Amino acid sequence: MSLPNCPNCQSDLTYMDNNLYVCPMCFHEWSDVEETVVEVKDVHGNVLNDGDSVAVIRDLKIKGAPTLKQNTTIKNIVLRPDEDENVMCKVDGFGTLFLKSEFLKKI
Ligand SMILES: [Zn+2]
Repeated sequence: MSLPNCPNCQSDLTYMDNNLYVCPMCFHEWSDVEETVVEVKDVHGNVLNDGDSVAVIRDLKIKGAPTLKQNTTIKNIVLRPDEDENVMCKVDGFGTLFLKSEFLKKI
């Protein structure tokens, strides 16, 4: 396992101390726990955010419910970037739905 160079001074003398990387040259300490931000994008590649409003781009069959019609407006979406159906939303008559962002467009 190779340790990363110090992001401050590029020293390669980095060592580990309690899950922190420490640079003995400039005494910089950092952790490699990166927050991987997975972006949720709509059909056009626009990045969606929690609370956005979107429209459904085509009729979507919903299990145990009527078809969610094209152009249905959905307000206040909640993103679930780690899930396949990465948008949670509430739609009148449907309750809580889990949709794929590729079937939505930002409005
Ligand atoms: Zn350094």
